[in-house]
Amino acid sequence: MKRVLVATSNPGKVRDLIGAAIAHNVQIAMLPGFASLPSVVEDGDTFEANARKKAEYYSKYAEGEIVIADDSGLEVDALSGAPGVRSARYAADEHNAPELAGNSDDKANNARLLRELHDVPGEFRTGRFVCVIAAARNGHTLATFHGRAEGIILHAPRGSNGFGYDPLFYFPEIGKTFAELSAEEKAGYSHRGAAFRAFLQWEDENRHRHPHGQE
Ligand code: IMP
Repeated sequence: MKRVLVATSNPGKVRDLIGAAIAHNVQIAMLPGFASLPSVVEDGDTFEANARKKAEYYSKYAEGEIVIADDSGLEVDALSGAPGVRSARYAADEHNAPELAGNSDDKANNARLLRELHDVPGEFRTGRFVCVIAAARNGHTLATFHGRAEGIILHAPRGSNGFGYDPLFYFPEIGKTFAELSAEEKAGYSHRGAAFRAFLQWEDENRHRHPHGQE
């Protein structure tokens, strides 16, 4: 069974990736020793910059192996694309508390999102999840993969699966929020599922072109 090394501290992302990998008979494995490594400062202006930064940094700890990292977030049109790259820290940012450099909890982030959109009617509550997965080896990015999912931000949460903004993210195609789906179902529609499938395809093509691991 093929194994993909992932560098993330977010259990929601791990669960999503496992959900996406099942259909491809791929195993998701955490980078060995990940929990004891110092974390990366995610100060890039784009998802791509942050994904590359994380993948490059963590790949140095698994010599010769391809390591993937995900940077992702929610872009809401009525908020000019916010929270965007600040999605994980949306509530902490509100209090302008840089000393609270860590991520805010999902509940606080969702509460702020609902407050910011309080006066925005349904038809203007459009937005998208965006995900960039970077694949790196020995500190160098080999390729990046992009995925997005278009949806509507509800007025109240629905569902108890998933993580982050999932309970507020309504996916019109199936009439459910992402929190009303299993990890495997979510992967079929999500930004992360799309980016991960693009990664798997690239890896497959890469292996056939370069069976001994040379780019
Ligand atoms: P990152 O660690 O900087 O990539 O932060 C990603 C943040 O974006 C998460 O903490 C969530 O708040 C949000 N996010 C990204 N992907 C998802 C998703 O699939 N569902 C819900 N929230 C997400």
